[in-house]
Amino acid sequence: MEAIEAAMRAPEYSDLQRHDAPRAEEAQLLLCHPQDYVDRIRKAIPAAGIYQLDADTHVSNGSFDAALRAAGGACHAVDLVMDGQAANAFVAMRPPGHHAERATPMGFCLFGTIAIAARHAMERHSLSRVAVVDFDVHHGNGTQDLLWDEERAFFVSSHQMPLWPGTGRREERGAHGQVMNVPLAPGTDGAKFRRIYEDTVLPQLDRFAPELVLISAGFDAHRDDPLAELALVEEDFAWVTGELCDIAARHSAGRVVSCLEGGYDLDALSASVAAHIRVLMEKGA
Ligand SMILES: [Zn+2]
Repeated sequence: MEAIEAAMRAPEYSDLQRHDAPRAEEAQLLLCHPQDYVDRIRKAIPAAGIYQLDADTHVSNGSFDAALRAAGGACHAVDLVMDGQAANAFVAMRPPGHHAERATPMGFCLFGTIAIAARHAMERHSLSRVAVVDFDVHHGNGTQDLLWDEERAFFVSSHQMPLWPGTGRREERGAHGQVMNVPLAPGTDGAKFRRIYEDTVLPQLDRFAPELVLISAGFDAHRDDPLAELALVEEDFAWVTGELCDIAARHSAGRVVSCLEGGYDLDALSASVAAHIRVLMEKGA
């Protein structure tokens, strides 16, 4: 958050609307998670120190509130964009969300933020075609789990394979064929990444004609990221952002809500987020 905030202090970002993320209402969490799971996470929060939900997913006293604000911020961003108060939006949030499954926290994630935002868009704004595009280097297994049987969503995840969490094979297509997994070989660079998006992902998204485009924007496919072996750079994230904005311009009056997922080299993260937001601003102007 500090690395991103620092990048956002540059003069070119001074005109951005900024909103504090409200806490999600419990009903919003329940769009994707059962009540006993929400209660279990709440009860696991320690009064002090750190509690480990699993090998990767640790919580402190502030974690439940932070996760509520991540989900609430994503829903609020959907409201702002759907109500025309913003052309598009980026939700800078920690913890991320795309690994949390229906009743299992995973990979730093407690609640499925982007899937909650998708369901919120369907329920509150009566949308029936919401695209969720996940270019984080890891498979969005949680989003896939939460939207597996959701006919109103088209979920695309591109990710390095093999890599944790191990899911995201091409054959995983969702209950209605509305899930698209795009495994990428280690070492995939920007040129190859762009070609794969141009040949497969973008035409499918165009065919789906989304009323809203949601992005699980992880920046850990950057070549400097320590957690994976893809070789994207800032310009590649800017390119894919522009392409997704163009799809939104054709089908959904430009409506895009992007939520931060991974990104573990702080210099690469802040530069990539800055490039991502620069394109959102240009396309939303
Ligand atoms: Zn990731």
